[in-house]
Amino acid sequence: MPEPAPLACPFQKRFPSQLVRDDAFYMSLAYNQAIDAWREDEVPIGAVIVFGGEVIGSAHNRVETSRDPTSHAEMLAITQAASKIGDWRLEGATVYVTKEPCPMCSGAMVMSRVKRVCYSVPDPKMGCLGGAADLNLLERSNHRFEVTRGGVLEDECRELLQAFFRAKRQEPDAS
Ligand SMILES: [Zn+2]
Repeated sequence: MPEPAPLACPFQKRFPSQLVRDDAFYMSLAYNQAIDAWREDEVPIGAVIVFGGEVIGSAHNRVETSRDPTSHAEMLAITQAASKIGDWRLEGATVYVTKEPCPMCSGAMVMSRVKRVCYSVPDPKMGCLGGAADLNLLERSNHRFEVTRGGVLEDECRELLQAFFRAKRQEPDAS
């Protein structure tokens, strides 16, 4: 069965100033990852992990390409980051992700002991850092991280996701 041609992504990557390394800067990098996802016909979600000002993980959703339900942007970025620093403990690291993490990815953030998670678009359906549930509040867990919920490039990241699903619904043959 021939694969349908990927929909062209109508959005451009962002080129933030390198001088100000704030949340918007790193979220822009995650946003650019999300654009890469769309260009591969994947749901446009991107994640970046930062440690000491350095990007140690950077990935986008690849579930369709790898035919692997665990290939979420956050999971791939966490694996990269752990490999880069040679430790499964990502203490001190901040995860930037364009959408609130699902149960699997929120769990991986608890297990890797990240310092902080900054997500862009809240997800009341599947989000597990305050949206549908909050894995950061497990009663007996001895690890908590800071969470920044929405507000950083939120409109841009949401528009990207909504436009992708809109385009998908309009595909002539979505089977
Ligand atoms: Zn996930």
